[in-house]
Amino acid sequence: PDRIISAEDQAGDGRDKALRPLSFSDFVGQSAAISNLKVFVDAAGRRGEALDHVLLSGPPGLGKTTLAQIVARELGVNFRATSGPVIARAGDLAAILTNLEARDVLFIDEIHRLQPAVEEILYPAMEDFALDLVIGEGPSARTVRIDLPPFTLIGATTRAGLLATPLRDRFGVPVRLEFYDAAELARIVARGAGKLGAAMTEDGAMEIARRARGTPRVAGRLLRRVRDFAESDGVEVINRTAADAALARLEVDEVGLDSLDRRYLRVLIESFAGGPAGVETLAAACAEARDALEDVVEPFLIQQGFIQRTPRGRIAAARAWRHLGLEPPRTGPD
Ligand code: ADP
Repeated sequence: PDRIISAEDQAGDGRDKALRPLSFSDFVGQSAAISNLKVFVDAAGRRGEALDHVLLSGPPGLGKTTLAQIVARELGVNFRATSGPVIARAGDLAAILTNLEARDVLFIDEIHRLQPAVEEILYPAMEDFALDLVIGEGPSARTVRIDLPPFTLIGATTRAGLLATPLRDRFGVPVRLEFYDAAELARIVARGAGKLGAAMTEDGAMEIARRARGTPRVAGRLLRRVRDFAESDGVEVINRTAADAALARLEVDEVGLDSLDRRYLRVLIESFAGGPAGVETLAAACAEARDALEDVVEPFLIQQGFIQRTPRGRIAAARAWRHLGLEPPRTGPD
């Protein structure tokens, strides 16, 4: 389902491009990662060499693609983008690689989803800037080595743990992106409002930020919807009240949960007494696919301390009960 609070890329998000930061100085947050990356980019630039390969990992919508574009721009090189599931055959990747210019950035999104045969040809490409192509078939087949220009591979993954070790080891610069805090998101929202030409107070930006689930993509989407409501209601300056009213109409509550999140918590608490309940059982009771619950509902609820995942099933934490206005059951000696 296309949920407004989903961190995944959605059809209407194309317009976000206007909001995309174009340089390191424009990029809010992730300061530890950014300061390291800057050092390596500067050093590579000074030496006129290709930057070491970079692996960006972290949940969707935190700025992996944006950061890869910024790196290419700061290096002054071309940015070529593809994604793991899109590269069907080894030959597809070979074609991309042989078309790169020296020091270019090749961005592969969802790199954990590369076919094994494609991954194979990536290893010598990353390590030796070479392609090993097999020419002919049967006994007359031979391998020809083709040199590639030195390039920088920037891989992005939501799950670094799913990457094969030989692939992970070939990235010299691993970068982990973390969820943003509300103050950082408020700066992103305020900047975005400026770019969209929408007048907004500081507490208006903060109200959107607090409900954006730590994720710039969600913040940008909420910002556009809030602006739509403000426009249609004739609101000239988006303050906290206006932002709150719009978000309430979008059914995004004060901590960023939407109706599906709340339904999940309600089922767990009201039908299963707070658990433990198995994910299959919960999925059936919520009339949702198990994968959808595991991939797009539970991670945020776990990260925020609403639920716990245990070997016996999901358990609602005290915070979940209180969020629904219920008294959590007493546990322990107190
Ligand atoms: P990912 O590749 O991690 O899924 P993207 O790079 O596509 O995420 O970012 C999603 C959206 O959030 C983009 O529209 C981008 O403009 C915005 N964004 C991400 N990080 C930042 C940031 N640090 N500052 C401002 N906007 C950001």
